[in-house]
Amino acid sequence: MFPDTFLFRMRELLGEAEFAEFYEALRRPPTPAIRVNTLKIPVDEFRAISPFPLEPVPWCPEGFYIPEDVEPGKHPYHAAGLYYVQEPTAMAVGVVADPQPWEWVADLAAAPGGKATHLVARMEDKGFLLANDIDRRRTTVLAQNLERWGSRIWVAANERIERLQPNFPEAFDTVVLDAPCTGEGMFRRNRDVIAHWSPRAVQGNAKRQLHLLRATTRLVKPGGVLVYATCTFNPDENEGVIARFLREHPEFSLEPVDLPGASPGRPDWVEPDLAQGLNLEYTRRFWPHKVRGEGHFIALMVKEGYYRPRHPLNIPEPKRPKGMPRRVWHLYKTWCEETLVEMPRLAGLILVNDQLYACPINPGRLQNLRILRPGLWLGTVKQTAFIPDHALAMWLKPEMVKRRLDLTLDDPRVVAYLRGEQLEAPGEDGWVLVTVDGFSLGWGKRVRGVVKNRYPKHLRWR
Ligand code: SAM
Repeated sequence: MFPDTFLFRMRELLGEAEFAEFYEALRRPPTPAIRVNTLKIPVDEFRAISPFPLEPVPWCPEGFYIPEDVEPGKHPYHAAGLYYVQEPTAMAVGVVADPQPWEWVADLAAAPGGKATHLVARMEDKGFLLANDIDRRRTTVLAQNLERWGSRIWVAANERIERLQPNFPEAFDTVVLDAPCTGEGMFRRNRDVIAHWSPRAVQGNAKRQLHLLRATTRLVKPGGVLVYATCTFNPDENEGVIARFLREHPEFSLEPVDLPGASPGRPDWVEPDLAQGLNLEYTRRFWPHKVRGEGHFIALMVKEGYYRPRHPLNIPEPKRPKGMPRRVWHLYKTWCEETLVEMPRLAGLILVNDQLYACPINPGRLQNLRILRPGLWLGTVKQTAFIPDHALAMWLKPEMVKRRLDLTLDDPRVVAYLRGEQLEAPGEDGWVLVTVDGFSLGWGKRVRGVVKNRYPKHLRWR
């Protein structure tokens, strides 16, 4: 089932006794887990309403193991963005990066968004996250996941990492590179990964990882943090890449990482000359025979230099941005007045074709980059009306909206809504925010007691 060369190498590295435990663990089923969206609900409150039994993940306060026989992705609370289904050891990356509110953070290989959603939650939706991935299709999924999460501080880019540097020289307090790898740590979770594994693929990945790491260096600001992660066991892609990188870039150094359950990195698995004096033991490894989770590797590095912290921004009163057509502003403002309790304070309103976004940074910074979403997608401006986007519904808190259809989880209209059906619900005509147990699900538009379904077609339940 597993490639012989892989098993042979692991036996060599771990020794007979530990290899036996490792091999046994590889044949056990993986443990599913979810991470709570603290932008929407405090962890304790989620525990009180969780549809599944929860067991804490030791290294992540927002993370919980769930039983194997539940389908967390098919629950209305998932559609409401209350949690993300994530591999438990993958949660450690957000914990180690631990970005703070108002920081600028870049997640450079971000799709489908496990780490990115964690990062914006830790930032309390304040500051800026550049969520980038080279794969267009995967970046679309990344954007959908961040939209469901209800954050307004991200931009989704679809770029080669090297192309980001001119726009963001030494701009980021924290940079995360969750690098593409051979995925040995995912072998028991995803059998397709096994088919793509080969010793040549390991070497190819190691080369690519070093190349990508080099491309991150000028993005990190002095005193800033660089987190490198993989989901593979192979030292050539882990300690080996870090050692080569640190030899080339002495302005970076490893920091100790405190993660319950994780084991120290292995300098002894790298050529002694290369490893010497770099503190490779500060890196961390998750082993499936030591924790309930898959294989993962994490390195936390700091760039030398004086660190200047960022300060909270004052978002001004809403007003028509310079250069925005009066018609567009009027339609948006009128919609806000009709639908919302007050106009939201959103910085950087920009119009891209007929789409209105709130860009979390000066949009000039995004010039010449392939951008999939330049910020929170507020809606589309038609000839005579503003049509709100699903992303806006997911960001708005229900109390910010005048007309709501508040449903409880046991109401059959919740599933009907997620299936794209229209709902009977008397009340005032106009845009309606549909909620489940007080959490936004999406838009509807009520006309004479019938709420027309505006839940996006591609998200609808079948
Ligand atoms: N961080 C993601 C998460 O938590 O959901 C998982 C990332 S996955 C391990 C690696 C990603 O790297 C893939 O989505 C892949 O498309 C992306 N990738 C590969 N080469 C890249 C490159 N040169 N620049 C940016 N992203 C790249």
